[in-house]
Amino acid sequence: MKPFEPKQFRQHFPLVVSTNSKNEKLMPLVYFDNGATTQKPDCVIDNYQYFYQNINANVHRASHLLSTKATTAYEHTRESVKSFINAKSNKEIIWTKGTTESINLIAASLGKQILNAGDEIILAVSEHHANVVPWQLIAEQTGAKIKVAILDATGKLDINEFNKLVTNKTKIVCCAHVSNVLAKINPINEIIKKAKSVGAITVIDGAQAVAHFSVDVQALDCDFYVFSAHKMYGPTGVGVLYGKQALLEAMPPYQSGGEMIKVVSFKEQTTFNSLPFKFEAGTPNIAGVVAYAKAISFIRQFDSAEITDYEQQLTHYCYQALNKVFEVEFIVDEMPDIPVITFIIKGHHNHDIATSLDSFGIAIRSGHHCAMPLMEYLNISGCLRVSMAPYNTFAEIDYLIECLNKILNQEHDSLQEELSFQCIESNEAASVVIIDKFSKVKSWDSRHREIMLLGKQLNRLDKNLRDEQTLISGCESLAWLVSSKNSQGVFNFQADSDAKIIRGLLVIVLAAYDGKTAEKIQLFNIEAYFESLGLMQHLSPSRGNGVLAIVDKIKSLTL
Ligand code: PLP
Repeated sequence: MKPFEPKQFRQHFPLVVSTNSKNEKLMPLVYFDNGATTQKPDCVIDNYQYFYQNINANVHRASHLLSTKATTAYEHTRESVKSFINAKSNKEIIWTKGTTESINLIAASLGKQILNAGDEIILAVSEHHANVVPWQLIAEQTGAKIKVAILDATGKLDINEFNKLVTNKTKIVCCAHVSNVLAKINPINEIIKKAKSVGAITVIDGAQAVAHFSVDVQALDCDFYVFSAHKMYGPTGVGVLYGKQALLEAMPPYQSGGEMIKVVSFKEQTTFNSLPFKFEAGTPNIAGVVAYAKAISFIRQFDSAEITDYEQQLTHYCYQALNKVFEVEFIVDEMPDIPVITFIIKGHHNHDIATSLDSFGIAIRSGHHCAMPLMEYLNISGCLRVSMAPYNTFAEIDYLIECLNKILNQEHDSLQEELSFQCIESNEAASVVIIDKFSKVKSWDSRHREIMLLGKQLNRLDKNLRDEQTLISGCESLAWLVSSKNSQGVFNFQADSDAKIIRGLLVIVLAAYDGKTAEKIQLFNIEAYFESLGLMQHLSPSRGNGVLAIVDKIKSLTL
């Protein structure tokens, strides 16, 4: 086993050490979105390419040499995963596309098989949508009922309240080992024990756990444990479903087609392959699975206690540094168990902060984190998440805090300062002024600042006008648009959003359309306008789609 040395470890991740960033000043990329997916070490990247250059063939199907090599490599990864989580047998390791597909498989196969009307499924309120929606669908089909377990003050599932929910009608209990928002290790030993006492099946979502601490499924004695390769340095499109062999044997197939069959006949009943192949229909992500073995051996070569220790140091440092920023409010007041910190910035929309940080080359996550029920429970619309990996550094955290303070101070200063745009009198002139202004600022962070300043020009829309009818659907943040037409057929628009960046983008879009007739609106070349502002290439796809949604709404209102 190799000692873990942070600087050397970082060198294994080409994307992390490159200065590759969409930022025009070529600032270093600071990647703090590891909870969504981790970066890949060079051995995984190389192996992926090596597979296609040297081994590529379909698995299990042919008797030629390449297929044998591909199958051996592919099955070797299954062995690696078995050892990684200490499963009893390779038969208990089923390949899927990811955590989401693993849970869908369990819900569709086992859920349909065992659930009846009135049966209960218990979920934690903090579950990722991947561990909510498949159960909602199956509950609808079977008449089963979903019961929601709440949290204690530390952000973990409240075991006392959970115990009260469990009855002899409880058939399935689902819980994340660690929530992707709260970053606290749930009391899954107690959860599993209690579920067992009534004979309920346990499904543990390990998506956020496997990258940060070792998991022993036999010690846990859970029925199912699911996770994704891409959150632990492996390729995307590869997931694991661990299930106890006896349960998997008894479950009906999920998808059907090649590989999962034994005999297919029109005369007799079609029969199915043995485990694990019974659940693996069609050609799998062979290169991804093969390269995943490299990710596992890569991470296992280091002393895991040293990695955990470094992650804890990073977490502590980041938490304390954020704590000093006046506007920061943590979602959970306790230090997180994994290097994932979630917070809001008082008085600021989380998307605004994330977009501003992006203009400094810092990638963090904002929004509901695929945990809308949790957001509702916490009474927030979304939050920010800094999720770290052992290739992150203390210097990166310092840079994050420096940029965050800059953004917050800038915001403060700009409230005092005159707007950099003069009040735009006529709308014909508005788009020209905007184009002129944007042509003078070259870097994306300056443009981004101008967009934020523009947002201040937008009058707030009366609360009564913010409703379903005026809502712009397709925008990541909430945004509303109201139109009116005068006797000459000229349209005027009012708009608003809960995010400053969207308010700025609304000003830009309205400058193009306000005060025009329907004909002129339809004919206006909005793509060329965006092009002249150098806008779309800098916006994230979802933000870009939001802008297009504004345009679509205007066009449909004026048709
Ligand atoms: N469960 C948790 C706790 C997660 O954090 C995620 C992804 O962020 C998922 C499930 C879904 O994982 P995937 O998209 O890889 O299927």
